[in-house]
Amino acid sequence: MKTGDFYHNFMTVHNTRKWTKKRKIFFCSFFILIFALLVCIFVFQMHIVITPEDGMEVHAELGEPYQDSGAEGELTGTLFRFIHKPVQVSTEGEVDTNKAGTYEIIYSAKSGRYTVTCTKKVIVSDTRGPVITLKSNPDSYTPYGHPYEEEGFTAIDATDGDVTDKVTSEESDGKVYYRVSDSLGSSSEAIRTIHYDDRKGPDINLAGGNEITWYTDQGDYVDQVTAVDDVDGDVTSSLQKEGSVDASVPGDYTLSYSVTDAHGNTTTAQRIVHVLSSENYNARTIYLTFDDGPGPYTDQLLDILDQYNVKATFFTTSVRSQYSDCIKKEAERGHSVYVHSASHNYAKIYASPDAYWADFDAQNSLIQQETGSRVNVFRFPGGSSNTVSANYSAGIMTTLTQQASARGLIYEDWNVSSGDAGDTTSTDAVVNNVTSQVSANTAYGIPSVVLQHDIKDFSVNAEERIIQWGLENGYSFRKITPASYIAHHHVNN
Ligand code: ZN
Repeated sequence: MKTGDFYHNFMTVHNTRKWTKKRKIFFCSFFILIFALLVCIFVFQMHIVITPEDGMEVHAELGEPYQDSGAEGELTGTLFRFIHKPVQVSTEGEVDTNKAGTYEIIYSAKSGRYTVTCTKKVIVSDTRGPVITLKSNPDSYTPYGHPYEEEGFTAIDATDGDVTDKVTSEESDGKVYYRVSDSLGSSSEAIRTIHYDDRKGPDINLAGGNEITWYTDQGDYVDQVTAVDDVDGDVTSSLQKEGSVDASVPGDYTLSYSVTDAHGNTTTAQRIVHVLSSENYNARTIYLTFDDGPGPYTDQLLDILDQYNVKATFFTTSVRSQYSDCIKKEAERGHSVYVHSASHNYAKIYASPDAYWADFDAQNSLIQQETGSRVNVFRFPGGSSNTVSANYSAGIMTTLTQQASARGLIYEDWNVSSGDAGDTTSTDAVVNNVTSQVSANTAYGIPSVVLQHDIKDFSVNAEERIIQWGLENGYSFRKITPASYIAHHHVNN
């Protein structure tokens, strides 16, 4: 074998070995590269995480507004957790809190090639009891020791609506507890603290009213008054009284009362006690009154009255001026002389209040001329109840009666009508009318004010029989004075 061959052979072997080694290195490098690539892909793997603020399932109350609290999103490394990159999250889905049910809110986020979605459940349901709303009046309060007086409340439930009528309330220890449940069994309670106070003074109760008439023959005046407080109860013993009544001396007495409750509230009251002479009048007192004169029969009447020592009352006019001197005689013989009307002309006097008072003043002037003094007692032509005046002026009687008291005048109507103004022309009828109506008044317990006219002869002719009947039956005849019994009709115009 030649050396060259050897070398050749040797080199061939050697070259074969060298190739195999190169291939190994190549493959090894390749796999290492792939492996490194895979490791890199794994190591640098990223993903998006969405985190709803309040969890994956939330409750929303029926009927109340729902505001989704949103979600946070971030891109984070699978291995390298320390990588945090915020990602915008968009929200989709509606929640209708007026309707119970389960709603979905879908969050989604995208960053490069990474996307993710996440679904949150919102369960709308009524878990609360009705809402109780208490009304309260700022001015109201409950007197101490008194039960609370309800100021009002409402109860509205998300499921059942208005359940006000299902509310129960219970008062205990200065509080009122209101309770109500809805049909799902949720209940609620409201508590009211009662506002106690005492701002009201005691009530003063004046038995008999704030004006009392007392007669001298009733003995000492007995004042009956009590005071009751809404908190303190009977406080009559705390009543302070000022003034006194001398029941033996006729006059007007004013009594003043004052009482203060435990919380400093004071009430005052007053009353007037009119002490009248018991001789003044009673149910067997007859006031004979004669209107429209003087006239041709006035003298005759004055003689009859003198004969029985009976004092009467004349409501005079100026219509028959030739008899005006009778006014003086009436007064001189002890009778009362008052105003009726100068003209006795309805159309004229009831045309206006001014016209009325002008006519009144004219007659009062005549009385002053005849007797020396003016008077403050009068009788309306037709009486205060007349409706004739409405033909001339609507409402004038209402006005005149009010003006009379404002002027300090007393008007007197009547409660016994003799009928001599037109119903009858018979003396017998006048006697019967008067005696029967006087008897009725006596049975009723009141004095009698008899209306007659001394310009009617048949009426004057009845006088003696009326007086005799009265005296035989225990009546006394009196003239009217400002302190007399007052007969008032109902005002109709
Ligand atoms: Zn008359």
